[in-house]
Amino acid sequence: MNTQISPLFNDIKQVLIDEEAIALRIREMGEKITQDYRGKDLILLCVLKGSLLFAPDLMRHIQVPLVLDFIAISSYGDATSTSGVVRIVKDLEESIENRHVLIVEDIVDTGLTLGYLIKALKLRKPASIRTCTLLDKPVRRILEVPIDYKGFEIGDHFVVGYGLDFAGRYRNLPAIGILKDELINRA
Ligand code: 5GP
Repeated sequence: MNTQISPLFNDIKQVLIDEEAIALRIREMGEKITQDYRGKDLILLCVLKGSLLFAPDLMRHIQVPLVLDFIAISSYGDATSTSGVVRIVKDLEESIENRHVLIVEDIVDTGLTLGYLIKALKLRKPASIRTCTLLDKPVRRILEVPIDYKGFEIGDHFVVGYGLDFAGRYRNLPAIGILKDELINRA
């Protein structure tokens, strides 16, 4: 399929990861997770809203019984960075006590959000907590956080698409790309 057809691509200065590469990598990640979680009571924890496309696509490739739950967090910051002050705005419905939790994140940047989440969830006494992220920006890290499953490492770019937004938009772009500078500066 030619993703360049979407008019959303007009706002992108560079496509970093195209739709096919995303799909291939997610399949590999799902296969690895399947091996690791055989026989375990798995809760897949989709972090809203950024993982809204990633989590269900990943789930299709995880061939062990699992329960899906959602958590929504809001972090304070400007348009393209987080301050690390995080608040749970929608909590889980499931109890995670004695269960194996896999957090599914869109991107780990400073690490502050994931660090906060791991700390908050550990208090609920899960059997284990692991983390899975589609994207990792290691050069931006402030807090070291464990990443057990990683899709792609990227450089210091603000990216959109495949669930990731800028001011609420571009989540429906099927690839991951860098917005044109004038669009970021205008906001
Ligand atoms: P951290 O707490 O690791 O700095 O940032 C985590 C959150 O910041 C991500 O879940 C995401 O919502 C947002 N974020 C960080 N980098 C980017 C990026 O390049 N693009 C978008 N759209 N969001 C980002």
